[in-house]
Amino acid sequence: MDTSEDLTESSLLVVVLDVGLSRATTLRNDPALAGQVLEAVIAFSNAHMMMRLKNLLALVACDTETTEWIYPESKADMSDLRQQDGQHELFNELERTVRRKIAQLLKRSAGSNSKGESMLSGALGRALCYVHRMQQEERQLNARVLVVTANGQSVSQYMNFMNVFFTAQKQNVLIDVCCLGPESSLLQQGCDITGGQYFRPPQPQGLLQYLLWVFLPEPLLRNKLALPPRVKVDYRAACFCHRELVDIGFVCSVCLSIVCKFSPICTTCHTLFKTPGTLPIKPKRKKAKLV
Ligand SMILES: [Zn+2]
Ligand SMILES: [Zn+2]
Repeated sequence: MDTSEDLTESSLLVVVLDVGLSRATTLRNDPALAGQVLEAVIAFSNAHMMMRLKNLLALVACDTETTEWIYPESKADMSDLRQQDGQHELFNELERTVRRKIAQLLKRSAGSNSKGESMLSGALGRALCYVHRMQQEERQLNARVLVVTANGQSVSQYMNFMNVFFTAQKQNVLIDVCCLGPESSLLQQGCDITGGQYFRPPQPQGLLQYLLWVFLPEPLLRNKLALPPRVKVDYRAACFCHRELVDIGFVCSVCLSIVCKFSPICTTCHTLFKTPGTLPIKPKRKKAKLV
């Protein structure tokens, strides 16, 4: 369990909330569920803040068009902190800020008809930049990221995702994923690379309970708990030409681009290759005659 030394450390949790949730197929039939997801994320954020006095929280949201920084706000945007209904000022401010900014984001995106993929990799990038800045400012800081999404199939952002995952691994930042949509092999890879937990709740209605059970405990405590078993990760890569997951592909020996069909010129770095054929048979060297 926690030692007294651990109590002095602060733990930063960055929640990346994909508000393209309402567009996801699993949630489209049940619009009330999207509201429940927001409630659950706010309650979970409060729970994280209550775990320790020094705990820190940040929240980034993303949509099909943009990523938005939600919490904490810059000092200039902060409205007056006042206690209401006996609620702690900090929780009150967190809740009001998140609700206001998410509503703004949804209002803006409601006008557009963009049906593209969520900008999840961009939001993860912003989360990691914030973690990096906070780690520079505060030495003893454990940081992790929790992604709540229903659109994890963004194969067109394959490279961006891989860059984010390996950066997180280098920064020692865990990426946890709570997936409300269909299984996402890309996000499974991210959890596996960074040592985080991937979980797809069987009943999204009970999201808060799953969040508190699986994602609230600190990574150090997790091996002492009976958490859901690790999923078998599908490590297929996406080809650069069609953005589809491939079992066997060709890899450029210069830039490591992956393509599903052989091409004599690498589309990324324009290296020329010879067409694969039978290897030329080398003529046997004539032995020098000894005189
Ligand atoms: Zn292809
Ligand atoms: Zn290449």
